[in-house]
Amino acid sequence: MISKLYPGGKPKAFNVTFDDGVLQDVRFVNLLNKYNLKGTFNLNSGLMESEFEWTHKNGSTVKRIAKDKVVPLYNGHEVASHTLTHPYMDELSESEIMYELKTDKDKLEKLFDREIKGFAVPFHYYSELIENCVKKCGFTYARISEESHSFTPQKDCYKWKATLFHPRNSFDEIVQRFIKTGEELALLQIGGHSYDLDAEYMWDNFENVFLKISSQNDVLPMTTIEIVEYLQAMEKSEITENCIKNNSDISLWFLIDGSVCEVKPYGNYCK
Ligand SMILES: [Zn+2]
Repeated sequence: MISKLYPGGKPKAFNVTFDDGVLQDVRFVNLLNKYNLKGTFNLNSGLMESEFEWTHKNGSTVKRIAKDKVVPLYNGHEVASHTLTHPYMDELSESEIMYELKTDKDKLEKLFDREIKGFAVPFHYYSELIENCVKKCGFTYARISEESHSFTPQKDCYKWKATLFHPRNSFDEIVQRFIKTGEELALLQIGGHSYDLDAEYMWDNFENVFLKISSQNDVLPMTTIEIVEYLQAMEKSEITENCIKNNSDISLWFLIDGSVCEVKPYGNYCK
């Protein structure tokens, strides 16, 4: 019996994917770091340079983190594109969409000195046109604004759904279900905005969840791109009843007859 595992032989993965790069991210990243968890932060490089701010519906002020603060803050976490200026993309032409995506990718790559492979859709508008632009710009995945309500990893990387957003009332129940699940390659991915933790008094709630998740030995904290690339490598492997052929350049992990087994890049394993 062969079943798939995450890197290091862990059966489950956990990630948060948070948007907009706002001041509350400082507190949020510190919380992730405290529990050795990993986040994906979706940023608008065109809004960092301005004093752009807006008022949340509960009255609090939401402000972006300045350009000179973001690099040290997100160290150890994934940075992904969220467009240059957070526009309503349904109002844009193809060339305007391309400009929003490409310019943000280029600016973030220059600023963070690393390749930016992920994209998260601003607001809720997504279409075939936007999806094609995301692919043309060379992104590996696009996280959309819908929820999967599932621990099954997404099959379509360009319509990637987090498990859920802002799980105010159901958060503890979902985490309990995740801890108990025996589903293969189970993934819990929470989407959101750190300013909502302020607005909805959810800081303690999140800290309790992080504490619980980090104390589970079978859960691996991963960024979204790490998950996507690992699943793509897993997809390329050939698995029969007794043999595994790893056709990728990263190690893959399996549970084989009760033992954890690493199959090295381009390696084979036969029982
Ligand atoms: Zn946003």
